[in-house]
Amino acid sequence: MIMGMIRGDEYRERLQRVKPEIYYLGEKIESVATHPAFLPHVNAVALTYDMAWAPEFEELLTTKSHLTGEKINIFTHIHHSTADLVQKVKALRALGQQTGSCFARCVGHDALNAIYSVTYDMDQKNGTEYHQRFLNFLKEVQAKDLFISGAMTDPKGDRSLSPSEQADPDQYLHVVEKRRDGIVVRGAKAHITGAVNALGHLVMPTTSMKEADADFAVCFYVPVDAPGLIHIFGRQTNDERKCGCLIDQGNVEYGIVGGEALVVFDDVFVPWEHVFMCGEYDFVFELVERFATAHRQNYGGCKVGLSDALIGATYALAEVQGTAKASHIRDKLVEMVHLAETLYCCSLACSCQGYALPAGNFMADPLLANVTKLNVTRHIYEIARLAQDIAGGILATLPSEIDWQDSRVGKYVDKYLKGVASVPAETRMRLLRLIEGMTCGTALVESMHGAGSPQAQKIMIMRRANWEHKKRLAQKLAKIRERPK
Ligand code: SF4
Ligand code: FE
Repeated sequence: MIMGMIRGDEYRERLQRVKPEIYYLGEKIESVATHPAFLPHVNAVALTYDMAWAPEFEELLTTKSHLTGEKINIFTHIHHSTADLVQKVKALRALGQQTGSCFARCVGHDALNAIYSVTYDMDQKNGTEYHQRFLNFLKEVQAKDLFISGAMTDPKGDRSLSPSEQADPDQYLHVVEKRRDGIVVRGAKAHITGAVNALGHLVMPTTSMKEADADFAVCFYVPVDAPGLIHIFGRQTNDERKCGCLIDQGNVEYGIVGGEALVVFDDVFVPWEHVFMCGEYDFVFELVERFATAHRQNYGGCKVGLSDALIGATYALAEVQGTAKASHIRDKLVEMVHLAETLYCCSLACSCQGYALPAGNFMADPLLANVTKLNVTRHIYEIARLAQDIAGGILATLPSEIDWQDSRVGKYVDKYLKGVASVPAETRMRLLRLIEGMTCGTALVESMHGAGSPQAQKIMIMRRANWEHKKRLAQKLAKIRERPK
């Protein structure tokens, strides 16, 4: 084993060793590593480890630690150039192509990069020691190749009120006690990708804050099995198919989307060595913006990888159904590629336009990263619409694999599901189920709200658009001279 790089099997063994508190459908889960509801998410993360060892992907998925010079998995790296940012996008596309699903490691990775820079800035201004503390933690993450989630979104309660104005202060995660050896936190984080199959959580505040919100300005790491930490796993479209079906799951190995959970912090203790912000409300905006930029940069990578697989499934289905040569089908397939590659262009552009922060690490261009993600909220829906258009209504009416295998009606299902004579009906069923999973329900909502809602991106675009500069350009062209007021 190379220090800093593990394989998927080691990750699965680690999951067996920890005992986090996880609930799903009223059941306390004993092992996410083997439970069928969680297995696809575990498989997807395991692949982020195994692909880094594969000769054809090694260059994309590994790099060198700037702290130790050791070879590490890309998901524990701190970006130090625009080339690093571009590499991340390409790696995410490659992983998306192989999983056809979310592989979850990016969120914690983006949190590492954001916290790295903000702890440095806080120390510069306040003389604190957060950055060194964080470097110690980062070295451990890199040495262990640790999968950590990034936990930002609070439940938020009444959205018209700030954290300190809420009737129930727990609607935003906050510090309830400061001790000599650490802090005690209470609240929750919602929609946390990979929360149930990570080994720990990097927790960040979710919105810009004022002095009255200082108790809510808290950032820390906590292992997944810390006392008081409770995970409640979310339902997904057709998730009951995970128990007892294979073909009907569509993507049986990696699932249709990442696994998200509500993570409750019921008075969880965090030692000081893992606290990276505590009360510095004036740095929360930077932390949120840098994390959001890093995560929004990703979406023209992973989602384009998924789209490659979806376009392939749609093309293959058109062949099976005898429509692949029809000009309107070809036109729609071309449109799908055009939309997907447009998203890829966006992610590459924001990466190439990235720049160094005071800590020395690189961040993608925030305006372009937000444009990338806002486009994902539209283009992925359009790609899905075109896939469903080409697939036909059978996408919604296909009999189950159980009826296809039934001794009484199976022969009819098989006969009437056949397309072109040379291809078995099973092939058509498998393609339809894959397309169904990738274009319905939870998978699409992830493209809308993952990495923040469209409105969150519009707020960032509004802030970064440089309106006065645009106005001056127009005034110059129109020969308008501003009169002194
Ligand atoms: Fe990574 Fe994409 Fe999943 Fe976000 S949605 S965690 S960027 S694979
Ligand atoms: Fe996401």
